[in-house]
Amino acid sequence: MQLMEKVLFKIAKQWIAGDTVDDALIAAKSAYSLRRHAIINKLGEYHTSKKQIKVVLEEYQKIVNSFRKWKIRGAISIKPTQIGLSISQKECNRNFEKIIQKARNAHVFVWLDMESSEHTDETIEIYHTFFSKYERLGIALQANLKRTDNDLNDLIGMGAKIRLVKGAYREKANIAFKTKKDVDNNFIKLMKILFKKGNEFAIASHDTKIIQKAQSLSKKYPRKFEFQFLKGIREEFKLDLVKKKFVVSEYIPYGVNWLPYSIRRIKERKRNILLLGSSLIQSHRV
Ligand SMILES: Cc1cc2nc3c(=O)[nH]c(=O)nc-3n(C[C@H](O)[C@H](O)[C@H](O)COP(=O)(O)OP(=O)(O)OC[C@H]3O[C@@H](n4cnc5c(N)ncnc54)[C@H](O)[C@@H]3O)c2cc1C
Repeated sequence: MQLMEKVLFKIAKQWIAGDTVDDALIAAKSAYSLRRHAIINKLGEYHTSKKQIKVVLEEYQKIVNSFRKWKIRGAISIKPTQIGLSISQKECNRNFEKIIQKARNAHVFVWLDMESSEHTDETIEIYHTFFSKYERLGIALQANLKRTDNDLNDLIGMGAKIRLVKGAYREKANIAFKTKKDVDNNFIKLMKILFKKGNEFAIASHDTKIIQKAQSLSKKYPRKFEFQFLKGIREEFKLDLVKKKFVVSEYIPYGVNWLPYSIRRIKERKRNILLLGSSLIQSHRV
């Protein structure tokens, strides 16, 4: 491992369960002991090798079949480009079908992660195709995209289960809100729509203001919804919300492809970038 990668890994460890399916299940079990639900994601994206995709499918199927045995209340979350979208939508659908079959047998909830804007249309199409066959299926929508207002309303119209996030991908100004203030305002606007008209949705943010607003909206509009957090971030909120009897899910990534995920997490927070800088300086000293 290069020095930079070693230092990054030291920081990334807090957000990732480990390399294997068992590592992910152990992390899910420990989340469950804290009365959190788990959402397991195998790291890796933009796969074009069918051999690599086969491994991804086998692991998701193993996870889905393990929840009952491990006594975990869990879901899985899949990136379309890790199961074939970078080859073709047909390939992705064919592979997704296999996962959905197992999930249906085991009654496990499946989330579709949303990737960069070049895949938004395809991901929504995949959702449409499979939601009609399996209702325990959710999709992430990103508040940084200007189109999301329309997507959200369309999807709510068909009874979709939506995870609202700010969006982790760098997007162009003609299609995306670029400042934190604009993204936050759009998130709050979309979140209000979810509370007024949504069906089993998730508020996935670590932002204090948004979490507080969601709690107050939930008093006015009692809805089936949950808070979702990434593993290793904002423990204090997870504890507090569970104590207040809200449903809290923890998104638990595992696997050896930890770098792109970790870089997105580092970029999200100035303190993480500073931590990276100081760790690099320290490692040069020894
Ligand atoms: C469960 C879950 C699923 C997600 N799924 C997707 C998806 O499918 N597609 C997608 O594009 N994005 C996804 N994301 C990521 C999301 O889009 C944001 O990039 C990420 O959540 C950071 O935005 P934020 O809402 O936490 O707010 P921010 O404005 O980024 O952060 C608000 C505050 O939260 C805390 N915080 C945020 N990030 C960190 C961090 N890395 N380390 C420590 N503290 C932090 C800080 O206190 C910060 O001030 C998901 C996020 C979650 C929680």
